[in-house]
Amino acid sequence: MKYEPVIGLEIHVQLKTRSKMFCSSPNNPDVDEPNVNICEVCTGQPGSLPVANEEAIKKSILVGLALNCEIPEYSKFDRKNYFYPDLPKGYQISQYDQPLCVRGRVGTIRITRAHLEEDAGKLVHEGEATLVDLNRAGVPLLEIVTEPDFKSPREAREFLQNLRNIVRYIGVSDADMEKGHLRCDANVSVRKAGEKALPDYKVELKNLNSFKSVFDALNYEIKRQTEALEEGRKLANETRGWNGAKTVSQRVKEEAHDYRYFPEPDLPILHFRKADIEKLRAELPELPQEKQRRFVAEFGIGEKDAEVLISDKNLAGFFEEVVSELQEWFASEGRDGEARKFAKLAVNWLTGDFQALLKVADVAPGESKVTAENLAELIKMVDLGQVSTTAAKRVLAVMFEKGGDPSNIVRDEGLGQVSDNAAIETALDKVVAENEKAVADFKAGRERSFGFLVGKAMQELKGKGNPQVINELLRKKLR
Ligand code: ADP
Ligand code: MG
Repeated sequence: MKYEPVIGLEIHVQLKTRSKMFCSSPNNPDVDEPNVNICEVCTGQPGSLPVANEEAIKKSILVGLALNCEIPEYSKFDRKNYFYPDLPKGYQISQYDQPLCVRGRVGTIRITRAHLEEDAGKLVHEGEATLVDLNRAGVPLLEIVTEPDFKSPREAREFLQNLRNIVRYIGVSDADMEKGHLRCDANVSVRKAGEKALPDYKVELKNLNSFKSVFDALNYEIKRQTEALEEGRKLANETRGWNGAKTVSQRVKEEAHDYRYFPEPDLPILHFRKADIEKLRAELPELPQEKQRRFVAEFGIGEKDAEVLISDKNLAGFFEEVVSELQEWFASEGRDGEARKFAKLAVNWLTGDFQALLKVADVAPGESKVTAENLAELIKMVDLGQVSTTAAKRVLAVMFEKGGDPSNIVRDEGLGQVSDNAAIETALDKVVAENEKAVADFKAGRERSFGFLVGKAMQELKGKGNPQVINELLRKKLR
């Protein structure tokens, strides 16, 4: 019997706003000193009153629009009651039956809803003691819930990565999973392949804090559930955690009514006019997948290359700058027909050596000392044979470290390629004179000897000879 997984995601995105969700305390939960960004509202003092943060609401709607959600005319906040030591009020202000965003879609994945709520504080365990830090209490969180539409852990991971890119493009969150800006719970069940109905149970995997853990935990759980079903065991609703190697049972999930949701009496109902929503929609930047499609259509680069570029908004922007520098140049040379070739060269440099340098130094593409203009210049120099590809990599490393113009670096470091015919002729004369046997072999039809002689000439020129010129001149000479 074949089984297939059913997967749905619940994702929390920590929003970057100046102040917290319901008070004017700074939204800066990553600060080291505990309990500095707090006030009477986010510490739940009796008699304090919440005020909804307009910036957080707008940013949430922007994300909803990017996920192709509908924005209902009315929305409201509700109290979700539960006790936890890092939740001083004894309830979380969230949204229950009237969320900000509903019925979205990203490709084949339907978005159920996206609602706005406040984050809880943090518990810090020190030896016997547990300390409470409320810097994060009241920070705006956008919870995005999908329908159970994912058919594999890979699909779920891709969606999450795409969502991270989307919120970064819009600029509403840093969405760093390791820092908890983006948190994911994955729901998974297993059914017989081809069955239409949803299984009558699901397992919720909590707080998966990396893309890898989402992928690994889902794979583990699918295997575990499939084996249980194959043995004829029945599975029930359950919450499980991931410890890096396996999933571990945590609890049987409570029902929604356990939270005794009711409308938050201290906040007004939200009313959105169509015109306001359309104004926000017009603010949306080009989204990652649109950019990917445009890169493929406009520059003729491959889907995969485009995907690597768009995974980082800065890198994508830098690529466009380099290409536009190159465009200006090859158009002025009457080489418009080579647009694709140069776009491909730019991709190769950006996703290869340049990205490697950035990663090691942990810098964003636009923030390094290598300007788009200088990188374009280097690509031109390689194309014109003024510097070999190998030497160009050295030039790039120097540009990265000290900045500066590649032609100056080539001159100062003596990395220029010898295209000067006289210098190459001299080297070839010497090589031909010193390697009589190879020359004779070549004349007898052994093509391999030609390569040997080119190698010798290259050695003579200390690796800086222009291979194309060497080839041409050597053939002529041997003829
Ligand atoms: P709950 O009431 O337990 O919170 P929901 O219906 O709100 O359950 O669904 C929560 C999440 O679980 C959603 O992301 C949804 O897509 C997913 N989900 C629902 N049913 C299943 C299922 N049978 N298998 C996997 N995921 C599911
Ligand atoms: Mg739920």
